[in-house]
Amino acid sequence: MLKQKINKLLIGTNNKGKLREIKNLLPKNIKIHSTSEFNLKSPIENGKTFKENSLIKSKYFSKKTGLICLADDSGLEIDLLDKNPGIYSARWGGKHGDFNKAIKKVYRELDKKDKNWKLKIIRATFICALSISYLDNKVACVQGKIEGYISKEPKGKNGFGYDPIFVPKGKKKTFGEIKPERKYKLDHRYFAFKKLRKFL
Ligand code: IMP
Repeated sequence: MLKQKINKLLIGTNNKGKLREIKNLLPKNIKIHSTSEFNLKSPIENGKTFKENSLIKSKYFSKKTGLICLADDSGLEIDLLDKNPGIYSARWGGKHGDFNKAIKKVYRELDKKDKNWKLKIIRATFICALSISYLDNKVACVQGKIEGYISKEPKGKNGFGYDPIFVPKGKKKTFGEIKPERKYKLDHRYFAFKKLRKFL
């Protein structure tokens, strides 16, 4: 754990959707910096787990800027697809991070696995690993998740990524249909964040 209280923090992501969500979750007394202020590209994520990739990012961005860094690695695991796209969730969107392309790929892969998948419940889990690093040192690394189902078609324009095709357990609407302020309080990032609060 760091000896001093964190009063400024770099959010180590180039994903605008994540940046928005993380800013919303952080205590207001912390001054937030984003990677765009430093014009930094993202590092290669060659870890095997969400936690490993999150630490690759928080250490990389902290070393580049000298600031304490909070980074997220997250993705969607679909049971019928053997937990894919998982850590490859961003990569399924191609070079330009096209989420429509990623969603089409999910439906294509489901069709390949089982032509009748729409008649079944397709379980899926959003996972988020959050880490805080200072230079090359890990300060904290935690994981949160939310279980749910894949919707038969994309619905809603809110959020980002796979939000239009994910229905959280116990709800009828996709994350794409749920208001952002509500989604922030029930998703995988929120649950990971709860575990991280004591470090902030
Ligand atoms: P990475 O953590 O930057 O490698 O990217 C994670 C990818 O997972 C994102 O680009 C999204 O496609 C997806 N993802 C992660 N969290 C969410 C979420 O809250 N909603 C929708 N998609 C998400």
